[in-house]
Amino acid sequence: MTKELTLSIIKPDATRRNLTGAINARFEQSGLRIVAQKRVLLTRAEIEGFYAAHAERSFFDELCTFMTSGPVVIQVLEGEDAIVKNREIMGATNPANANPGTIRKDFAESIEANSVHGSDSPEAAAVEIAYFFSKTEIVG
Ligand code: GDP
Repeated sequence: MTKELTLSIIKPDATRRNLTGAINARFEQSGLRIVAQKRVLLTRAEIEGFYAAHAERSFFDELCTFMTSGPVVIQVLEGEDAIVKNREIMGATNPANANPGTIRKDFAESIEANSVHGSDSPEAAAVEIAYFFSKTEIVG
């Protein structure tokens, strides 16, 4: 067990429905600590850079349009095995396949508007956290 940091984004479908607090409660009740957080309207360039690994996927354009359609809450979560733990709390990408009690099962609207993003590996977490936060903005 090691203490890790992971990047989380509460997506526009969730901020639109005022679900930030409900989602944050899931993280905190699961033992994750929110050690950085900001609510922003991402630019097209920012989200295209963030999702660069998905640039060749058929839904890339649609995904970038969705992610800039309203405010997002970008966060750093800290905890034991935070990366895997957050992925468990989030549930599967497609809410139809997500386990009961997960954020995506309970809140997601569709495979695209699926309420949350979470880093999927230590390498991704390091890159994604540095993309949005400086070290001084993360207060554990
Ligand atoms: P994640 O790691 O569970 O978020 O899933 P992926 O890395 O595979 O995909 C990134 C994001 O792209 C997902 O969270 C969805 O918002 C979106 N997405 C994934 N698959 C699809 C799809 O088939 N269609 C659309 N429109 N969006 C998708």
